[in-house]
Amino acid sequence: MVKPSYKKIIWAVWIFLLPFGLWFSHNIYPPQIRGNEWEILAFLIFMTVVASMPMIINGTPVFFLQWATLSVFLIFGLFFEIILVQIALIAVLYQAKLDKKTLFRLPMNSIMFFLVSFFSGIIYYSFGGKHGFDLAFNFHLFVLISLYLVSYLLLNTLGIFLIDRFIYKRKERFIKKDLIWEIFTTIITYPVGIALYIMYQYVGLAALLLIGVPFISLSLILKLYHSSQTANDYLRKTAEIGHQLSQNLYVNETVEFFIEKLYELFKVDFVFIHQVNANNQLEMISRVEQQEKLPIFSEVMHENEGICGRVLASQKSSVFHSKQDWQNVNKGYMPEGIQSVLCMPLIKNKNVIGVLLLGSKKKKAFANIKLMVLDLLCTQFAIALENAKYFEQTKENSEKCALTKLYNYRYFEKLLSDQFKELNEEKLDNLALIMLDIDHFKSINDQYGHQAGNEILKAFAKRIQKLIGDHGIVARYGGEEFVILLTNIAKKEALDLAEFIRKMIASRPFVIKQNIDDSKKIKKVNITASLGLAYAPEDADESLALIRHADRALYVGAKRAGRNRVGSYVK
Ligand code: GH3
Ligand code: MG
Ligand code: MG
Repeated sequence: MVKPSYKKIIWAVWIFLLPFGLWFSHNIYPPQIRGNEWEILAFLIFMTVVASMPMIINGTPVFFLQWATLSVFLIFGLFFEIILVQIALIAVLYQAKLDKKTLFRLPMNSIMFFLVSFFSGIIYYSFGGKHGFDLAFNFHLFVLISLYLVSYLLLNTLGIFLIDRFIYKRKERFIKKDLIWEIFTTIITYPVGIALYIMYQYVGLAALLLIGVPFISLSLILKLYHSSQTANDYLRKTAEIGHQLSQNLYVNETVEFFIEKLYELFKVDFVFIHQVNANNQLEMISRVEQQEKLPIFSEVMHENEGICGRVLASQKSSVFHSKQDWQNVNKGYMPEGIQSVLCMPLIKNKNVIGVLLLGSKKKKAFANIKLMVLDLLCTQFAIALENAKYFEQTKENSEKCALTKLYNYRYFEKLLSDQFKELNEEKLDNLALIMLDIDHFKSINDQYGHQAGNEILKAFAKRIQKLIGDHGIVARYGGEEFVILLTNIAKKEALDLAEFIRKMIASRPFVIKQNIDDSKKIKKVNITASLGLAYAPEDADESLALIRHADRALYVGAKRAGRNRVGSYVK
């Protein structure tokens, strides 16, 4: 950020310096006007055109202006060189699409270019250089022009360096890659600028066309080449991302990866992702602003509501180039300072499964090529997202019991043997296994029906899960048998916990709604459970033995002893 006070100073300096500088150069080095101001006007128009066509070399826009300014300087003198450079500068900055905050770059660059023009010119004149229509091209003039161009180059580099250092507070080095380009530009402009001067001596203004047409054509070709290079680059990256996207197994992982790549590729300012729920509403699943993950909004959006709702309904992308464009369509939240907005449906098998919303603080941030690339990316993302959801669902189905949503015995046995490994490697101190079996559950089924029995199993599972929370793992081991695995807990504590659970089951009834007699009355059923505890490493040195011993503690210590009690394993 540039301090507002700096901006004021820059404007003030500009307003004084420029008129004074122009007046000074006009009087000290009077310009050459051959009674034909039209020629100067032609140069002016020509330079504006050249300035608005930067050549792109290695992704850097390079403004080949100097070959024209050099001949202007040699023909018309410093005063017109300054004026033409200033006007060309406006054309360049117009391309940069300045807004309120960056408008100060106009006076700032103007001051810099003025000083560069001014001092290079003064150096040229003070070594005996002249301007006019009939300069003789001898060795002395070549040396002077070289001196002029070198001064121009050095002053320009110094100007950029000082602005970086003192206005933007960036720690840039004086000699960096840009300088090589500047030197390259200077070397090219030297002969072209002189050619224009000489040509002008012979054919007048037609020289502009003779030199300008090939130059501008070259500029256009390079521009085209650059945009096709950019397209190629984007496509290559897109293919790579598509490939990587499909390697993510989980939903979160997929979404995070996708967002990271969007930031990398498009330098957006925010990314919101919504998924379509069963009622065809949009639920936000991810919100990232300035690369920071933020809490998502819980409200759903309906079809045709706001930017995203419209995209959901139409199945077509919307692009907005500035705030005015989306202001009336948008409903609800939009981050501060956003100009460009892109909203794209995530489509799989002709169905919209989600909606992506991207925003940028820049105007016109989403150009054609980006849209095409994003379209491809969204298709791949939609597929990856659905695959990840499917994977998570399948994984859950294979690990959990459909009725109680607890882990099933398959998952549990694997977990237990993993925990035993950790115990053997001394990463864990001990393990406690509590096995529970509901007492006389068969008679509950007989009395209220199987459905009611299921309801009780569900409520039972929920009650235990709530009691244990994340202190241990609860699983359904079989029919009406459950297990609880606890780690790093003293045996006495585990026994107390088992006793507490027993009480919490017996003390409050379970509610059933589906009664066997179809009376639709809510019924409260009291049940009890018997529990058995086995402890490792004391009682067992491998997982199946621990299960067997907990089972034995349950039958011998609790069921046989009269039920509704806790048995502990004894050898
Ligand atoms: P106890 O354990 O006290 O010795 O008696 P019990 O009646 O609970 O024991 P038993 O092992 O004889 O019976 C278990 C019953 O649990 C048999 C079966 O009908 C019932 N059961 C097992 N799984 C389910 C289930 O998923 N749903 C329902 N509703 N009942 C189930
Ligand atoms: Mg039982
Ligand atoms: Mg049983």
